[in-house]
Amino acid sequence: MPIYEYVCTECEEKFELLRPFSKADEVAECPHCKHDSERVLSKFCCVSVNESGVTSSIAGSSCASCGSSNCAACAMN
Ligand SMILES: [Zn+2]
Repeated sequence: MPIYEYVCTECEEKFELLRPFSKADEVAECPHCKHDSERVLSKFCCVSVNESGVTSSIAGSSCASCGSSNCAACAMN
């Protein structure tokens, strides 16, 4: 099961949650204030290495390393 990162819209607490891919975009409950939290897209997942060995970050929501439109797929590898 992939890990997703969330940030609380109330207290801005960041936390990670293991949940099914199908529930990735659902709101999560903040462990501190029980307020709704929104999912944060991980930047570290969106990294690709080109033919010359240069690592580059890909901006946006698509993932270069797995070709998925959702980076959460990488966490299952
Ligand atoms: Zn909170």
